[in-house]
Amino acid sequence: MADTVKISIYRRDPDLDTKPKYQTYEIEPQPGQTVLMALYHLLDNVDKTLAFRASCRSAVCGSCGMHINGKNRLACETQLSVLGKEILVEPLPHLPVLKDLVVDMTSFWTQYEKARPYLISLKATPEKERTQSPQDRKKIDEFIDCILCACCHSSCSLTWWDKDYIGPAALAKAYRFVADSRDEGGVERLKIAADEEGVFRCHTLFNCTEECPKRISPTFAIQEMKKKIIVAKLTGKL
Ligand code: SF4
Repeated sequence: MADTVKISIYRRDPDLDTKPKYQTYEIEPQPGQTVLMALYHLLDNVDKTLAFRASCRSAVCGSCGMHINGKNRLACETQLSVLGKEILVEPLPHLPVLKDLVVDMTSFWTQYEKARPYLISLKATPEKERTQSPQDRKKIDEFIDCILCACCHSSCSLTWWDKDYIGPAALAKAYRFVADSRDEGGVERLKIAADEEGVFRCHTLFNCTEECPKRISPTFAIQEMKKKIIVAKLTGKL
């Protein structure tokens, strides 16, 4: 018999359970099998009540962020082979659990909206696309890759106890537009980021940067926003 691994999964159905529990399954890992593939295997063959979110299976949609062996990761890109013989799969921390591995993302989206996550331009809409130079595009390359998985948000110790803190994902998104040569909403976004629940709340612990599966650094974005806010205040723009 091939080697097996134990996969323990956080389970809670709020309609039935007063307390969460961990259910352990033993599976034979297949070459290249990811945590998400293992969850689908269990759902299809072992337990049809298991709940989790997933969509693209390509690390693009951001749906399958989970806490796997103590770290926030995307289940679709995390192979069982890197996790050892005992695997612990839990929902993203510090977000309310709706069922099993499915969390309520309302607080994440509420903060995200505050960043006004879209291009603001007073110029007339061009016939074709709004262009920018390759050099200007490079300045936002990293932050365009955000897939809104909330891995950074749920790893931030400040978002755990201060529900009004805008949080790393929303602040990184605000920076993505502030740094975009085509955007004209900079001052408005800096005002939002300068709020007492904005960038100056950040304790620079780097949790968000360490947990981002797309290797984005919200910490860098937050530090850059701090600098821009100070310059804007000194020059009377804010
Ligand atoms: Fe996910 Fe990274 Fe975007 Fe945060 S910055 S939401 S961890 S992709």
